[in-house]
Amino acid sequence: MKSFCLFGPRLRATHVAAGRLLSALLLAAVCLHLPGPVSAQSSAPSSASPLQHVRVQLKWRHQFQFAGYYAAIEQGYYRDAGLDVELIEYSPGVTPIDQLMGGNVDFAVADTGALIYRATGVPLVALAAIFQHSPSVLITRDDGTAPTLGDLRFKRLMLSGGYMNAELTAMLQNAGVKPADLDLVPEDTSITALVNGKTDAYNGYSTNEPYFLKKSGIPFRVFQPRDHGVDFYGDTLFTTEAKIAAEGDLVEDFRHATLKGWAYAVAHPAETVDLILTKYNTQGKTRDHLMFEAQESIKLILPNVVPIGYMNAERWTRIEETFQAQGRLSGAVDMGRFLYPSDELGRFLDMLRRHKAVIAGGVALLVAALLLMHIASLRVQIRARTRELEAAKKLAEEEARTDILTGLPNRRHFYDDVARDISRLQRFKSSMCVIVADIDHFKTINDRYGHAAGDEALKQASAILLRNVRAGDMVARIGGEEFAFCCLDTPADEARTFAERLRLEMERTPVEFGGQRIAVTFSLGVAEYREGQSLDDVLHDADQALYEAKQSGRNKVCAFSGANA
Ligand code: GH3
Ligand code: MG
Ligand code: MG
Repeated sequence: MKSFCLFGPRLRATHVAAGRLLSALLLAAVCLHLPGPVSAQSSAPSSASPLQHVRVQLKWRHQFQFAGYYAAIEQGYYRDAGLDVELIEYSPGVTPIDQLMGGNVDFAVADTGALIYRATGVPLVALAAIFQHSPSVLITRDDGTAPTLGDLRFKRLMLSGGYMNAELTAMLQNAGVKPADLDLVPEDTSITALVNGKTDAYNGYSTNEPYFLKKSGIPFRVFQPRDHGVDFYGDTLFTTEAKIAAEGDLVEDFRHATLKGWAYAVAHPAETVDLILTKYNTQGKTRDHLMFEAQESIKLILPNVVPIGYMNAERWTRIEETFQAQGRLSGAVDMGRFLYPSDELGRFLDMLRRHKAVIAGGVALLVAALLLMHIASLRVQIRARTRELEAAKKLAEEEARTDILTGLPNRRHFYDDVARDISRLQRFKSSMCVIVADIDHFKTINDRYGHAAGDEALKQASAILLRNVRAGDMVARIGGEEFAFCCLDTPADEARTFAERLRLEMERTPVEFGGQRIAVTFSLGVAEYREGQSLDDVLHDADQALYEAKQSGRNKVCAFSGANA
């Protein structure tokens, strides 16, 4: 099943923690950022999952040279990895690397000549060097004189064309035989050229031609480049950078299953030869021939010396230098890009390197997202704090306008509201009265019963006033034991009646405090608002009426009469 995943090569134990951390950080952002899905093959596909078709271009026709691929198919290693592998035999005129780079196959088996492509910028990646040594050798007839390589100077040499001459040419040069010293004869694909004396030395494969010479009982000698300071890898498995970037897990699964297949094939050569005879023998080789090839191939694969597929950057660099020395390769190969990392950590770091632009984009996106989230959270906090401050301010304002002891509006509140009412009155020409109420002999109450009793008297007086206030009217505590009423749309006689009711209720409601009943009375002054007056004016009139009430014995209501006076 396909899944969206940043990581190409699958993360395994060594860096799983780092992988988790990184993936947690980047996954969402990078998946958003990637141009398309970076697919990954599940390592353990369910039986219902369809197998993914994979095409592999072989370097030659079927023989033991590709035994590991046959074994991986036969043993079900590819199937277990969710892969349906198709092996494509060599066909004349088509090179494996051209097939690979042309997008016709997913993987290709090729040789060290891939370096020459890579040096020109072809984005090839070497996944595993299956053959630790090249099988390419020079074969001569053994005439009993034990010739050395140097003896081949001015002798006839049949070399296969192309860059694969490089290792043989280098070998000869190391032995003092310059290219100019060689008498090259046209290439012949059959060893009979050597047998028939058409050439003195023949370029063959250690895994193949010696078999015929042995069978024919013809004495021969083999000159191997690695015995003369030139050691090329043989068959190597390749894919492309694009494949690794897009389907890293598939590449890793295929590589892993292939190496497993090779391990099986080299451990069971006879069984693998039987498999070739049954299913792959397009060349009609004999069992004997294939067994010879198997034995010779295993000598080059070195399964008991290195892990199968092992590659070393230094050796690839030596090969590159050999090509350079012969003018077959110019420029330098970036081994970091050319060689697929063989360990998990290496693959992980490689993946980071290959995806660094995307990862950088993802990180930038993530940082931007985190910043935006932070800004949004700050905004929410600021809004909440502003609401709190506004509420606190409102409360403080409310408190500043309220008398703490009685809960009534205070003098300032009364002034603010009534001054506003007066400006409205002037517009609508309606009537208004102000009543000022003052507790009689309050000082005496304090003195006789204590300050707390006085407070209780203030609260009770306030409660009476509040009980009687009408909708739209207002009562406030405007002084120590002094209260004021504002009665809108109320003529003077009505206000006076109302004041009388207040007086009576106070008189009839003694204050209960400390088990005592304290008689409390009001004196009240009433004044009607007259046009053009200020609040102070009308309060002054009401105070004057109050004064009259006090003077005439207290517990009285007097209306201001000065206007008429
Ligand atoms: P009058 O009948 O002429 O109004 O006499 P009075 O004693 O009521 O008036 P006076 O102005 O002489 O005294 C008012 C007293 O009210 C003085 C002050 O101690 C007291 N007072 C003012 N505010 C408070 C308060 O919040 N609590 C208490 N317990 N007493 C207060
Ligand atoms: Mg007073
Ligand atoms: Mg008083």
